[in-house]
Amino acid sequence: MREIDVSFVSTAVKGLFLKANTSIGQDVYNALVTALEKIEESPVGRRVLEQIIKNHDAARATGMPICQDTGMAVVFADIGQDVHFTGGDLVQAVNSGVEQAYSEGFFRRSLVRDPLFDRTNTGTNTPAVIHTRIVRGERVHILITPKGFGSENMSAVKFLTPAQGPEGVRDFIMDTVKAAGPNPCPPTIIGVGVGGTMELAAIMAKRGTLYTVGRRNPDAKYGALELEILEAVNNTGIGPGGLGGRVTCLDVHIDFAPGHIAGTPVAVNICCHAARHAEITL
Ligand code: SF4
Repeated sequence: MREIDVSFVSTAVKGLFLKANTSIGQDVYNALVTALEKIEESPVGRRVLEQIIKNHDAARATGMPICQDTGMAVVFADIGQDVHFTGGDLVQAVNSGVEQAYSEGFFRRSLVRDPLFDRTNTGTNTPAVIHTRIVRGERVHILITPKGFGSENMSAVKFLTPAQGPEGVRDFIMDTVKAAGPNPCPPTIIGVGVGGTMELAAIMAKRGTLYTVGRRNPDAKYGALELEILEAVNNTGIGPGGLGGRVTCLDVHIDFAPGHIAGTPVAVNICCHAARHAEITL
């Protein structure tokens, strides 16, 4: 049994949110540069990509946030079953790390206490949305994303009949992308969860937005479906910033889980070009 003081978790979470909000992942950055140099043909689309890349360069150089929407804090924690947390409450520790990062980074705090009846700001950008999994071993892996809501708002969940198959999944994703149009700040990364229950599909979709650009599902059939949908999305002509062009999406990631014989939930989670994520293993 390995003991980890929760103060280490706080410090790690704080560092991850400071980093993610000011420095885009190299995979996303490289994909934007490739889109500009090799793919985008539209002059307006190219101009938008230039500005996005310039914005990322400026954020990295100055430590300023990539976007004014510094997001809702989402944390995925894979916790080894041989870990014992000491020194306090794990959830409080995660939230403390988020609060410190948003304070020190002067990041916008975007959460209200109650979405319907008390829309006062919590003042801390907490509570974070925390997803935990118990895994083998004595390590803790933390993956975070500050999730902007221009793109989160464009996400969707639907239940397909089993007979609708891959075509049904593709049609639902395309309907969601076309309805979103320019709103999710393209070029996007699209995460898709297929199977399980409604909430499992949604969590898989969220994780999908955080996979490295260019990663393919190890199952060849799903990997091929990812590429087919990526091409279809980029043929919509929505383009960078929604102003027209070839590059609407940088990648599509589909995860699947065993499902019930009677239904196939499909969740589509869209992430904007500010696809911010960071991770650490303790
Ligand atoms: S969707 Fe992304 S890029 Fe657009 S405003 Fe929100 S965080 Fe910023």
